[in-house]
Amino acid sequence: MNYNYHSHTPRCHHASGTPEEYIKRAIENGIKYMGFADHIPFVCDDGKEFDYRVPFFEGKEYVSEICALREKYKNDIEISVGFESEYYPSYFDRMLKSAIDFGAEYLILGQHYSNGDIKGRHNSIKSEDEQKLKEYVDTVCEGIESGYFTYVAHPDVINFVGDKEVYKKEMRRICIASRECSVPLEINFLGIRDNRNYPDPVFWQMVGEENSPVTFGFDAHDIDAAYDGSSLIKAKEIVEKFSLNYIGKPELVLINR
Ligand SMILES: [Zn+2]
Ligand SMILES: [Zn+2]
Repeated sequence: MNYNYHSHTPRCHHASGTPEEYIKRAIENGIKYMGFADHIPFVCDDGKEFDYRVPFFEGKEYVSEICALREKYKNDIEISVGFESEYYPSYFDRMLKSAIDFGAEYLILGQHYSNGDIKGRHNSIKSEDEQKLKEYVDTVCEGIESGYFTYVAHPDVINFVGDKEVYKKEMRRICIASRECSVPLEINFLGIRDNRNYPDPVFWQMVGEENSPVTFGFDAHDIDAAYDGSSLIKAKEIVEKFSLNYIGKPELVLINR
């Protein structure tokens, strides 16, 4: 694995270590293509911002900091700068526009919340709510179909603990959309490291059945995770077990086109 397009920075308030430290660790471990995709700035209708995102006023600084590092390390590594973004149907145009204005090059789709409401529940909280599951799948599929996302980060972040058949019926739609639109699904290494509800074997079995394209992401929120070799072993086991269509490095979808 010589790529990773899923790195954060301390600007999102829940990551540690400087981008430069992440870059050094990545280079030392043979990463050739590296992307920063910190949580996209977003101001809610009430004027408030989630505290887990890059603050709106730091959007430009974030991009220029990464661009300066790209220049500094250009002989050792190819660095890209983007954002991890939710897809909110009614806000996406404005999110995309601000990302482009900040100078970002790509987006990965991380649907942590299903709507732009700051009071919303995080999708990784256990729930049996079928409506919430359906809403999650609808928005992820729409995001995939928008054509703006390089890949889907942790597509199985939703922690649905209700009827398994309902889960499979809904989540299979993500696998099909991914295949039809050629938008890869990420096996998320943070989920592996932290023993989270994802990667969910029930989901990845379907990904294998549907032959959807699959890629890897370290989802680095600290220096160590800027190269996560132990999760890589486990991710390869998942690929093996479900005969996944692993494509390796994803093709970047440029948003400033
Ligand atoms: Zn994060
Ligand atoms: Zn995420």
